[in-house]
Amino acid sequence: MSQDNSNKKKESDLEEELLYELDFAWNLYSNSQKLESKELAEKYIEFLTKARTERERTAYIKEKALQRGFREVEIGNSDAEGAHKLKPGDRIFYTNRKKNISLVIVGSHPLSHGLNIIGAHLDTPRVDLKIRPLYEDKESGFALFKTHYYGGVKKYQWASIPLILTGVVVKKNGTVIDVDIGTNDNDPVFIIPDLLPHLQQKVQQDRKTTDVIKGEEMNVLVGAIPHENKNIKQKFKVKILQILHEKYDIKEEDFLSAELSLVPAFKPRFVGIDKSMIGASGQDDGICSFLAMQSILDIKEIPEKTIIAALFDKEEIGSSGSTGAKSSWLRFLIEDLLLKKENHVKSSKLNISLTKTKIISADVGPVLHPTFKQVQDPRTAAILGKGLRIMKYTGRAGKVNSSDATAEFIAELRHIFDENEVPFQLGAFSAVDAGGGGTIAMYFAEQFNADVVDAGPAVLNIHSPYEISHIADIYASYLGYRTFFKHI
Ligand code: MN
Ligand code: MN
Repeated sequence: MSQDNSNKKKESDLEEELLYELDFAWNLYSNSQKLESKELAEKYIEFLTKARTERERTAYIKEKALQRGFREVEIGNSDAEGAHKLKPGDRIFYTNRKKNISLVIVGSHPLSHGLNIIGAHLDTPRVDLKIRPLYEDKESGFALFKTHYYGGVKKYQWASIPLILTGVVVKKNGTVIDVDIGTNDNDPVFIIPDLLPHLQQKVQQDRKTTDVIKGEEMNVLVGAIPHENKNIKQKFKVKILQILHEKYDIKEEDFLSAELSLVPAFKPRFVGIDKSMIGASGQDDGICSFLAMQSILDIKEIPEKTIIAALFDKEEIGSSGSTGAKSSWLRFLIEDLLLKKENHVKSSKLNISLTKTKIISADVGPVLHPTFKQVQDPRTAAILGKGLRIMKYTGRAGKVNSSDATAEFIAELRHIFDENEVPFQLGAFSAVDAGGGGTIAMYFAEQFNADVVDAGPAVLNIHSPYEISHIADIYASYLGYRTFFKHI
C-alpha cells in the first residue's frame, strides 16, 4: 500500500469514528424483525379500526389487559385483611371515568426507587356535536347537526369526507346508550358539505386557510326526507328524531347529556406500493397509546421498578379536566400503589417516589415534509422511517412552555437504546420560530418533579383526517418503550 492510500484510509476511518450518521431503521432490522414489524402494523390497524375515541380506546385496552391477566383495582378499596395487597409481578389496571386507563406491573424494588411511566393520550382531533345539535333548514330541505370541532384541526379538511357518528347518550335515569352510525359498511355516513368550485368566488376565494370553512359552517347533513304527516311543522327534524327514537329510545332533550363525535369513516390501511406506511385518522395519539399498551402487555418478567402505561384524555384541548394529564389522577394512583404495596401513606415517601420517577411522554411530532421543507431545519427534523423520535424540548419561539429533558436523562436513554439496538433519532419540532406545540410532558414534570422526555414516532399529515406513520418507526417505538420499561 502506498503512503497516499494509507492516509486516505485513515481519514475515512476518522470520518466513521467521529461523525454521527443515521441510517433508516429498516436497514437495521433483521429479517425476523422486519416480519415482526409487519405483524405489529396489522395489530395497530385493528386497534385504529376498532378504537377511535378515548371511550372506545379505554374499553379496548381494558379488554386486552383482562385477556393478558391484568385485573382491575380501584383507588382506595384496600381492606384491613390486606386482600388487595400488591406484590411484585402483579398485573393490574385502573380506569378513570371510562376515559383513562393505566396498566401497571408491580416491580420488585420499593416504589421509593422511582417508577418507569409511559404516558400517552387517547383523545384525538375530531368534530363534536353541539349540545342541541339537530335543526332543519326548510328552504334547502335538510335536517342537519351543528358541531363544535375538538382540538386543532384545519377545518376545511373535515368537509367533503365521509364521517362516522359515535359516542354516548346518557338518559336522565343514568342509562348509557352507545351510539354508532357509520361503522358498518351498510350504515349511512355523514358529511359536512363544502361549496362547489364554480361558486366559491364570492364567498370563499379570499378567505384565509383557517376560514375556508368556518366553525359555524361545519354543519353536517343528517337527512333530507320530510315527515309524511301534514300536521307536523318541523318535518325534516321530526323525521330524524323518530328514527333515533326507534333505534335508540332517545328524544331531543337527551342530547343535553350526550357526548357524540364525528370521526373520519376512512378505513385505516397501508399506504404506498411497498406498504411502508399506515394511513388513518386518530394516529395522534392512538399510535403511542397502542404502543404503550402493547409494550407493557408483552412484558412477561417481573420488572425491578414498577412500570405504568398511563393513558389520558383531553390532550388535544390542553390536558385540562379530571381526565386530562393535568389532573391528579396519576398522582392519586401512585399514592394508592404505595398504600397497597407498602402500606405507606406518608407524603414524604410519595414525594421521593415521584422525584425518582422517569417518564416518557409518548406523543407524535412532525417529520421533514417532502414538499414543505421550509418549516423545518432539515438537519434537526425527524425523518419518517428513522426510528423512535426523541424530542429534547417542545415549545415555541425561544422554547417557551417546553419541558426540556436533561442531557443526563437523554444520555441514559441513548445508552439503553444502543445496548438494546433500538433505532432512534433526536428530532426538533420545527425550524426556530416556525411554529411549535406541546404535549403532556410538562404537566408530569411540574406535578411530579420527575425526569420527563418526549418520545414517540414522527408522523406526517398530523391532525388531518388521514395521518401517515411508518411501520419501521412503529416497531422502533415498540422496541424503545419495552427497553425503557425493562432497563431504566
Ligand atoms: Mn398528541
Ligand atoms: Mn395532537
